[in-house]
Amino acid sequence: MTEKVYFDHNATTAIDKKVLGVMMPYLEMQQGNPTSQHSFGRHARTAIEEAREQVALAIHAHPTEVIFTSGGTEANNMIVHGAAIKNAQSTLVRSNIEHPCVSRPMEALTHQGWHQDLLKVNHEGVISKEAYKNINANNIGLVSVMLANNETGAIQDMSNLSNFAKEKKALSHTDAVQAFGKIDVRFDDMHIDAMTLSSHKIYGPQGVGALILNKRSDIEPLIYGGGQEKNLRSGTENIAAIVGFGKACELISESMKITSTHTRELQKTLEMSLKELGAVIFAENVARLSNTTFFAFKDIEGSTLLTALDKKGFAIASGSACSSVNKEPSHVLLAMGIDEDLARGALRISFGNQNTIHEVNNFMETLKQELQTLKQLTAIAA
Ligand code: PLP
Repeated sequence: MTEKVYFDHNATTAIDKKVLGVMMPYLEMQQGNPTSQHSFGRHARTAIEEAREQVALAIHAHPTEVIFTSGGTEANNMIVHGAAIKNAQSTLVRSNIEHPCVSRPMEALTHQGWHQDLLKVNHEGVISKEAYKNINANNIGLVSVMLANNETGAIQDMSNLSNFAKEKKALSHTDAVQAFGKIDVRFDDMHIDAMTLSSHKIYGPQGVGALILNKRSDIEPLIYGGGQEKNLRSGTENIAAIVGFGKACELISESMKITSTHTRELQKTLEMSLKELGAVIFAENVARLSNTTFFAFKDIEGSTLLTALDKKGFAIASGSACSSVNKEPSHVLLAMGIDEDLARGALRISFGNQNTIHEVNNFMETLKQELQTLKQLTAIAA
């Protein structure tokens, strides 16, 4: 069998060797507890504070604004619950394409006295300025709009979010898990209150991320205990993972421009060939991540094609990795008004820095053959 090809970097990325290198000493040796006052503890504390600076530097935030969490899911739950509890019975506003770790906690809160209002995307997966005008609620506890969508890669205009939040005097948040490392993400320029990051999407370890929270914002903790992370996230820190996340942030800042130029070239080649085969590319005409292509072929089921391609060594996704057990069509595509049958065909390719044009060409050859086989089978069955 030929070498396997990984085209699913929006799901997770392989840890960078340099990242692993800085983590190993913290896994192999007695690292101490960062809250201890002896030299072991102080050493661990220093390592965490250095990582905090690396994260802050990468997104133009202040180190005191970085709260380490166990990943993007926790950071998103933390801001939703944390903001909601500070503002009982308020309305929580989000886009209708948010990741489930924003939408589900909000939905859960609607059973406990909070309200929810949705900002609706257009056919290209973008929230227009006008969409904000449809939100009439005034007591808004939080407004959350993701920076880049994990399925389509469509990028939202953060100035619309910050203007709306300012007008409504609401706390504003963006889930930047997919955007970070792929486009320039500057917390200081966005004029919003909070942002979510995840390490394993940027060649760092899994199980670590951060909520970036500006000093003006006051939220209630999700996890209580020893008071770590400014009382907002108790629990002994995962030092090796935090150190790895810091290093991944440093590396991604250095390589982002080169990587995004490279993935844009791969994306162009891929999409040209896909269109020649008759594919529909979602969110094709809007600002989109350079590594992400979400597409479908009419009358071809996505999961069937995914399985066939997997057997040939190509790892791609059929939508959000976190909901791949879910057989329902992508909620993002349905929110965009895409026909349900076409949405069932959706497949996502997300490139990473190690992918090559040779892999893209090989993929297209295999795809052509698999499509032909599937079409023949469909014809026989008909
Ligand atoms: N937000 C988005 C947009 C994501 O794509 C993901 C993961 O796929 C998450 C949040 C969750 O992050 P984590 O896996 O670190 O919990």
